[in-house]
Amino acid sequence: MKPCALVTGAARGIGAAIAQRLAQDGFSVIINYRVNHERAQRVQQHILSHGGKAKLWACDVTDAAGVEQGLQALLASGPIGVLVNNAGVLKDAPFPALEPEDWHSVTRTTLDGFYNITRPLVMPMARRRWGRIVNIASVSGVIGNRGQTNYSAAKAGLIGATRSLALEFARRNITVNAVAPGLIDTDMIKDSPIEEIVSHIPMRRLGTAEEVAKLVSFLVSDDAAYITGQVIGINGGLA
Ligand code: NDP
Repeated sequence: MKPCALVTGAARGIGAAIAQRLAQDGFSVIINYRVNHERAQRVQQHILSHGGKAKLWACDVTDAAGVEQGLQALLASGPIGVLVNNAGVLKDAPFPALEPEDWHSVTRTTLDGFYNITRPLVMPMARRRWGRIVNIASVSGVIGNRGQTNYSAAKAGLIGATRSLALEFARRNITVNAVAPGLIDTDMIKDSPIEEIVSHIPMRRLGTAEEVAKLVSFLVSDDAAYITGQVIGINGGLA
């Protein structure tokens, strides 16, 4: 039987597509979300109606105590072998206008979120000698982007954490990789100038959440057992 897969920020967008895809692959999925209960329930219903298994876990990934308590309860009902750190927020501004709360909310969600969620899960994975961790970074963390100093810093930090954690746990058969999407058609970019952005993408289109989910599906599969510490771009040729 396949282990449980936890996907953070899975009520919508890329996280929802990943949760649905991993359920299709046979994983029992834990759908983490922050506030959007109705959308999270819809993702769960979709999975259940297609014969999959899914449960909901409401928790803000930046809430260290809440995460610890929640994960203890989840681990008590079975091992979590796959973790997808997907929760993320965008608060763009030119650097001189970047408010402290926009710096902190973006870096905390990505980096504290990664730390809070991953640390309690990695030793149980190590004891079972199997684990898959996929961190959803961004092209912005690889090549930078104007107006995204906070977001680029957070995602570049996540890439650094990915590489180091991969080295620490390679011998325990845990792979740790980052996926760095370009522009993906979700709520996150709904206020962006889409036409102008698309004109800079060599493939002249946005990516879909399902395309990112297929890549994650591969990275957590047995076929990807020898891939670790990598940053895989999915960006239509942008970088
Ligand atoms: P969305 O804004 O559509 O969804 C973000 C999800 O993250 C939501 O489900 C949200 O929950 C959740 N979330 C945010 N903060 C927290 C938190 N503190 N705790 C728990 N959940 C949280 O974004 P996308 O689907 O587009 O993005 C998913 C990931 O992909 C992000 O990490 C993003 O940075 C990354 N990415 C996206 C790109 C794009 O073009 N769309 C490009 C590159 C990377 P709730 O619904 O409850 O608010």
